[in-house]
Amino acid sequence: MSHALVPTKLEELWAYIAENPEAMLCAGGTDLLVKIRSRSVTPDCLICLERLDDLKGVRFEAGEIIIGALTTHRELLHDPIVQRDLSILASAVQNLGSPPIRNMGTLGGNIVTASPAGDTLAPLYILKARLKIRSKESSRSVPIESFILGPGKVDLRAGEILSEIAINQDSRFTVNHFEKVGRRNALACSVVSMAALMNIAEDNTISEIRLAWGSVGPTIMRFGDVERLLEGRQLTVRGIEDAIRKVQQSVSPIADTRASADYRRDVAGRLLLRLLSYASSR
Ligand SMILES: Cc1cc2nc3c(=O)[nH]c(=O)nc-3n(C[C@H](O)[C@H](O)[C@H](O)COP(=O)(O)OP(=O)(O)OC[C@H]3O[C@@H](n4cnc5c(N)ncnc54)[C@H](O)[C@@H]3O)c2cc1C
Repeated sequence: MSHALVPTKLEELWAYIAENPEAMLCAGGTDLLVKIRSRSVTPDCLICLERLDDLKGVRFEAGEIIIGALTTHRELLHDPIVQRDLSILASAVQNLGSPPIRNMGTLGGNIVTASPAGDTLAPLYILKARLKIRSKESSRSVPIESFILGPGKVDLRAGEILSEIAINQDSRFTVNHFEKVGRRNALACSVVSMAALMNIAEDNTISEIRLAWGSVGPTIMRFGDVERLLEGRQLTVRGIEDAIRKVQQSVSPIADTRASADYRRDVAGRLLLRLLSYASSR
């Protein structure tokens, strides 16, 4: 690598991108620098985004919660809006990497890396996050599931950056559950993860549910038929057993050094059993 540029204003960023079309963007660098060290990417120039304060922080705007793409995981964890209104995202970030990784790594970097094991992705899918993509000339907003095209593949064109993540403030659920199964408790990449938003009626039936799984397919996986099957069912082992089987039939995991495909398939379904802990005791 011959040089790095560190813009402090968006106008400066657009100028650097125009002058260095082959440059790679670097936010916290926790994914990118690993790739540079292993020489799987060899950029000649890096444009470091870390001083673009306009792309940091969490705020309310017109009924939406807006998160700047450059907000670090640590900042998310300590933000009062995230703690109160996006607790499922806070749960996912709590065990992401280690303190140094959370200090440097950003939400935008986790999204653009587009790993099926990216911890923030399953929560963002069920929160129906929309991503604001900007370039010097244009701005567009896309749902996260259209932005992420496959492992490491995103709908980002030349000259564009991910600037913000927008989440509708109406996404209020009584149960906000995120669980990651890894090979160890800390610093573990997920073997399977599941995010769930759920409302339970007084008679202990599931009145509304949104579910997403990580690390069991090329991208985050959601199954509308499983959600429809669960809605109206009692939150009991009997009530959810068909859904567990359906999830196990629907996921398409791979085997790798961390787990076999069969293990992932089995655990993906069984993670639904965790939701029973929210059942009313009456
Ligand atoms: C030891 C270790 C442990 C980890 N543990 C976990 C874990 O438990 N869970 C997990 O999900 N991840 C984990 N990661 C991966 C990583 O820390 C996260 O994905 C992090 O959020 C990446 O953010 P970043 O800002 O560092 O991205 P960077 O490395 O700076 O960038 C990643 C990619 O995104 C692009 N990019 C970044 N920001 C933007 C933007 N705003 N617009 C356009 N493109 C952009 C970059 O060009 C690059 O291609 C771990 C990494 C390490 C090294």
